[in-house]
Amino acid sequence: MSSASTRSAPDRASVPSAQMPDAEATVTMDKIVSLCRRRGFVFQSSEIYGGLGSTYDYGHYGVLMKTNIRSLWLRAMVQERDDIVALDSAIILNPRVWEASGHVAGFVDPLVDCRTCKLRFRADKLDDARCGKRPSKRPGEHSECDLTEPRQFNLMFETQVGAMQDESSGAYLRPETAQGIFINFKNVLQLARRKPPFGIAQTGKSFRNEITPGNFLFRVREFEQMEMEFFVPPGEAEQWYEYWIAERLRWYRDLGLRDANIRVREHDASERSHYSSATSDLEYLYPIGWQELEGIANRGDYDLTQHTEFSGTKLEYVGPDGERYTPHVVEPAVSIERIFVALLCDGYDEEVVGERERTVLRLHPRVAPVKAAILPLIPRDEGMASRALALYEDLRRHHVVEHDDSGQIGRRYRRQDEIGTPWAFTIDEQTLEDDTVTVRDRDSLAQERLPIGGVRTWLDTALEQPWRSPKGE
Ligand code: ATP
Repeated sequence: MSSASTRSAPDRASVPSAQMPDAEATVTMDKIVSLCRRRGFVFQSSEIYGGLGSTYDYGHYGVLMKTNIRSLWLRAMVQERDDIVALDSAIILNPRVWEASGHVAGFVDPLVDCRTCKLRFRADKLDDARCGKRPSKRPGEHSECDLTEPRQFNLMFETQVGAMQDESSGAYLRPETAQGIFINFKNVLQLARRKPPFGIAQTGKSFRNEITPGNFLFRVREFEQMEMEFFVPPGEAEQWYEYWIAERLRWYRDLGLRDANIRVREHDASERSHYSSATSDLEYLYPIGWQELEGIANRGDYDLTQHTEFSGTKLEYVGPDGERYTPHVVEPAVSIERIFVALLCDGYDEEVVGERERTVLRLHPRVAPVKAAILPLIPRDEGMASRALALYEDLRRHHVVEHDDSGQIGRRYRRQDEIGTPWAFTIDEQTLEDDTVTVRDRDSLAQERLPIGGVRTWLDTALEQPWRSPKGE
């Protein structure tokens, strides 16, 4: 959940440590990292300067895939609904916002330092950490470990606004997008003429000075959140909370995530923030074990009440017949990064085809960075080359497609398999005779012939179809 106090020590203490996945997984985080680097999805940020802890840059295919995830979320949250509107609030807000939300006082992780190896650990995650002296042990287990008492560490990045640097110029980079939504509640209520139940959805960068980052994009210091605050009459909060858990699970299923790899875990009272009456994590079975993919929280009226108190502006709903109340809030919150890694892990596959190994990303076609490849079988054949280019020029106006005429056809197919391109259209000798092309399916490797003039409609239709992973449920 995106709450201040959920980061505090007691809330974290009882989170069960990650279970390791069993047999099937040939998918490791190292394989995902190496594929991402090899194919230009993701790079270590500031690499030529030695990098910067847990920040990453996205290359071409990474940007395309992130864009697809964001658009699919916005499509489900905003475009296909009448009861949710979009918002894009600032990253740097009035610092009072973070006092009201509780982040200044409570957005903390408990930290311990080891005086021997000088490493710093999260006190509530010692089970997942490795001793600096002997990595096979946990911090505190080696005879030379000398751990300090836990100290609270605020995760917000501080900055200064304006040329003068004094106490009044201090500000923060937002650690979540949700507060930008709460402070705009009145604007949306009045100007978008909404009445509860209604929601406000926002995507954008959030920043957290995570102390034990790592595991690639899973825990980074700069990430893109997608949060939706759903404002409801108090008596309906429970029902909407259940609704959003089911709805978000359905969304992941529609994205093709396999049922066996996703589950709901309801927090017990000791994990929840004091104002939340219920919180559930949708967990994914990452190669590092079951971990939070998305949080869904029933936040009560805490946020609107706090901002009313701190700002002096009443954030409540007043009906036409004088009925008034502070709506309760149900919040599904996730980052693109966690979805990105989950989809890559779910789709990653290695197999031997015709005695050659191939790595293939079995991604939902709507998530895949490139929708189709257009390949002239013999690039130096002018007839094939010109038809391939013409098809490419036509398709690229509607979809992200690639034209590739370098190297053996087998190698070109494999390049596309590795980036998850669902279909390849090959222009060959027969095209010159009867104006048909071959379409090759990434997953089944089945090939069929289509009239070249029908390719665009074929692709449009194929992209609208539901998709389930060929790896099973
Ligand atoms: P965690 O327990 O893993 O630190 P959290 O409970 O602090 O997560 P929330 O405050 O609930 O996280 O944030 C909402 C969502 O934002 C999370 O479910 C996750 O998808 C994403 N998220 C949070 N922190 C990070 C991070 N450092 N890197 C990537 N994504 C993150």
